[in-house]
Amino acid sequence: MYKVRRFFDCQVPVNRCNFECDYCTVGQWRKVNGEHPTQYTPFKYSIEQMTNALTPERLGGVCAFNLCGNGETFLHPQIVEFAEALLKQGHFVSIVSNGTVTSAIDYLCELDETLRSHIFIKFSFHYTELLKKNLLKQYFANVKKAHQAGLSLTVELVASDSNVEYIDEIKQACMENLGVLCHLTDPRLNTASDIRHLTEMPMDEHLKIWSQFESKLFDYRQATWGDNRQKYFCYGGVWSFNLALGSGKLKQCYRNSDTVQFIFDNIEEPIHFIPRGHHCSFAHCFNSHVFDCLCGVVPEIQSPFYIELRNRKLPDGTEWIKEAYKDIYGHRICENNDEYSSAEKVYSDGIISLLNEKEPGEDFEKLVDIKISELTNIYSISFYGEGYIHDWMEKKCTKKGENDAEKKIIIVTDFANFAQIKPELLNKSDVDTNIVSIVDMIRL
Ligand code: SF4
Ligand code: SF4
Repeated sequence: MYKVRRFFDCQVPVNRCNFECDYCTVGQWRKVNGEHPTQYTPFKYSIEQMTNALTPERLGGVCAFNLCGNGETFLHPQIVEFAEALLKQGHFVSIVSNGTVTSAIDYLCELDETLRSHIFIKFSFHYTELLKKNLLKQYFANVKKAHQAGLSLTVELVASDSNVEYIDEIKQACMENLGVLCHLTDPRLNTASDIRHLTEMPMDEHLKIWSQFESKLFDYRQATWGDNRQKYFCYGGVWSFNLALGSGKLKQCYRNSDTVQFIFDNIEEPIHFIPRGHHCSFAHCFNSHVFDCLCGVVPEIQSPFYIELRNRKLPDGTEWIKEAYKDIYGHRICENNDEYSSAEKVYSDGIISLLNEKEPGEDFEKLVDIKISELTNIYSISFYGEGYIHDWMEKKCTKKGENDAEKKIIIVTDFANFAQIKPELLNKSDVDTNIVSIVDMIRL
């Protein structure tokens, strides 16, 4: 049985798309605004270096990677090679695609059986664009080919107002070509702070119209819409991440979340994970269907398993989700990880508060006081870095007075750049100086 340790939602640096969906918040949205985004950006690091940075040994086990562009993912010319390299390490790779780049799908369908069993394709079903571009037949042929090749997959339509008038046709196309209805996702205004629904219809009407697809994906997104997550401790940054493939920037979550570490260089340095904790900056979980149902980032939240949101049983008895994916989508990543102690939660929350120039709270202050007292008994401590965390910690340490033990420890407060800073400090310091990230101070 496969156990997945972490989930990485990877941003693929491609803006190019062969479609112009009216509800698109990425490629099309930029075109409408008269911008001409770069078509794609080659990876800064070689694929060998990137995948050496992502070995199961470094990540603590086999992981699930989702690859998604700001346009059509398969139009990034290096993405298939990157996916294959991850698969060869034993990871699971899901790819979001509009299903029309046949050469890429063919390539994946021709990989060996073990690798194929670790591939999942989310076939986004852009019905009106497929019609306009006369690609409907090719799209369904690609879905069928992937299914027959043993890839796991799902077919997902955007429940947009513009699709409402085509619902009957869409259902008919699904039944004729798939034998089942597709799943649904709700369009939303990603640029607004409340990430509101993108529908002009009254909500009850919108929900009623789309309920005919009986999509648990759609239902779960509705169930968590508007539920602010700051009351919970979220393990984004430890069990789930957003990873920019162009730069190696590993973040706790999307947009306003903080950087855990730049992970594609100095790869011998372990990754020092730090959770988002109580600092979720979204109006509701940005992708609750994945982060709850697959990752369990808030372990106390009850949710269906991800498999229920993605699978369909076909009339011939086969299913979209195959055996290996049943293992991982029928469980949550939280089952394969230990939760933090109360002290670790208080500590990581406090560090994220300081990073964002907020007061970290009394419990954190007490914890740091105790820790610094313990450390000054053994070490002469100094903090390295700039900014709020550094100044706050230095002040704490100076207050403690004597700090002149023979053994030295340097605590780096700029944890996102720790892997880059540590070798520089090692060059300049005595051989026996300990150099640690502020993230780990609680565990010293
Ligand atoms: S296929 Fe995806 S990226 Fe391309 S225009 Fe449609 S929604 Fe946007
Ligand atoms: S959006 Fe979801 S995964 Fe991200 S920080 Fe908020 S609760 Fe956690």
